[in-house]
Amino acid sequence: MKEKALLSIENLSIDFVMESGTVSALRGMDVDIYPGSIHGLVGESGSGKTVAARAVMGLNPMPPGLIRGGSILFRGDDLLKKSLSKLRKIRGKEIGMIFQEPTNYLNPAMQAGLQIAEQLMYHENLSKKQALEKTREVLREVELGRNDRILSSYPHELSGGMKQRVMIAMAAACRPKLLLADEPTTALDVTIQKQILDLLVKLRDEWNIAILFVSHDLAVVHSIADTVSVIYAGEIVEQGKRDDIFHDPRHPYTIGLLNSVPTPSHRGHKLDAVKGTIHDPYHVPSGCPFHPRCPIAADICSRERPAVRYVSGQHSCSCHRVEGKSFNGTPIHWTPIHETPVHGNFEGEPRNA
Ligand code: SF4
Repeated sequence: MKEKALLSIENLSIDFVMESGTVSALRGMDVDIYPGSIHGLVGESGSGKTVAARAVMGLNPMPPGLIRGGSILFRGDDLLKKSLSKLRKIRGKEIGMIFQEPTNYLNPAMQAGLQIAEQLMYHENLSKKQALEKTREVLREVELGRNDRILSSYPHELSGGMKQRVMIAMAAACRPKLLLADEPTTALDVTIQKQILDLLVKLRDEWNIAILFVSHDLAVVHSIADTVSVIYAGEIVEQGKRDDIFHDPRHPYTIGLLNSVPTPSHRGHKLDAVKGTIHDPYHVPSGCPFHPRCPIAADICSRERPAVRYVSGQHSCSCHRVEGKSFNGTPIHWTPIHETPVHGNFEGEPRNA
């Protein structure tokens, strides 16, 4: 029997309605995340990936944000229907969030240990003394040791990597079922980045938690994710297991992203960047939103939004020029490509292989 998803984002659409116009940040997004797995959500800046992660936590400002439709099922309950007080009980306890830049989220006037302990006092009804004792355990879990110096340090006294570990400790203190990691390594140098990725994999393995890992960096996503969604203009354009996406990409945007990653096979060759820039957020192109940048766009592409088609198993792609079947197995019309499509040639060892 198929395992039940811990988190199911179904047909989620979110707009931001402002005086200057309406930005459609998410347009019918579908993502399932399973216990003990890491799902990578990858796309350029402005593609909607952070809005999606924040929607799970209920952190998008409403207004100007507006849920146009869809649901976010966490353990079968729709988070969008929860009151703020119920959501507060879930945030930090069952779902934790790690942000890109810990400096912006840690309280500069409060010792790091106390910031972690506050989560435990609020969600687990512990006294301050009990919470601080448990915080020492949590610091050990995030590999900061049973270290009283960290406990009593203020954020400005910690390095970037230590601050990110404190942030992870805050998010993971109550052993949530789901961690949302929004570009958690982007602000870190490469060696610290690797340590943080290893730490997330360790928490996933030891606690069987699910992680939504948001990043613009394909190499990082390749190294950590079990399954991947590629997002463009608020739409998931391709989705599948890591190997589906990195070794058998079908969507021209995915292929373009892969061809722009520096890998050993590219040495001595110019990288192929995806041409053009992401559209004006107030005006999403008609039909397939990628059509102004797509090297194989056909006439139909600017007129009709492509349906999701399954290429194999759970590998899906939204492109008029990819052959596949609908969810119920019906073949979908496609416009064949006569030239050979460029295939990404991605190398590197995944961290959890
Ligand atoms: Fe390119 Fe058309 Fe496919 Fe969009 S639907 S990615 S424009 S070929």
